[in-house]
Amino acid sequence: GAMRHLPYFCRGEVVKGFGRGSKELGIPTANFSEQVVESFPSDISTGIYYGWACVGNGDVHKMVLSIGWNPFYKNIKKSVETHIIHTFKEDFYGEILSIVITGYIRPEKNFDSLDALISAIQEDIEEAKRQLDLPEHLKLKEDNFFHLPEGKTVNSH
Ligand code: ADP
Ligand code: MG
Repeated sequence: GAMRHLPYFCRGEVVKGFGRGSKELGIPTANFSEQVVESFPSDISTGIYYGWACVGNGDVHKMVLSIGWNPFYKNIKKSVETHIIHTFKEDFYGEILSIVITGYIRPEKNFDSLDALISAIQEDIEEAKRQLDLPEHLKLKEDNFFHLPEGKTVNSH
């Protein structure tokens, strides 16, 4: 369920999340709309993935992504949240986020403390950075998917 669908390309609007305070933890996650999440393969595993991401027609950055159970829908629907490994000057709600998921790190876990959660995410980020420098993942940074035709607006993929 995790690797079979990779690389996975996806594009969609960034929406408000559940206010879980990811940003307060220093790890903001850009949430995709329910409609975009529904377009994911239904058998894709929940867990932590990594890949490349780009906001609008900006630069392509490394990212870590979580596919999790959506608390808003009593955990019967999934949520897809992207943490871009880059410091942005401003929020980008409403903008189009393009991602390619290239690899899988681990399944979802429960943590005993906030500190344990934060350090696990920091490790995920370090793992993503290392993996994405390898040729098989690095090559997807240059994929045509990220180079939108001039003057065209893309709403969905
Ligand atoms: P929400 O619950 O609304 O998703 P978060 O605390 O997860 O709130 O913050 C996510 C928002 O932060 C994104 O929608 C985006 O506008 C902004 N943001 C700023 N920097 C980043 C980043 N590096 N990665 C992801 N989102 C970011
Ligand atoms: Mg979020």
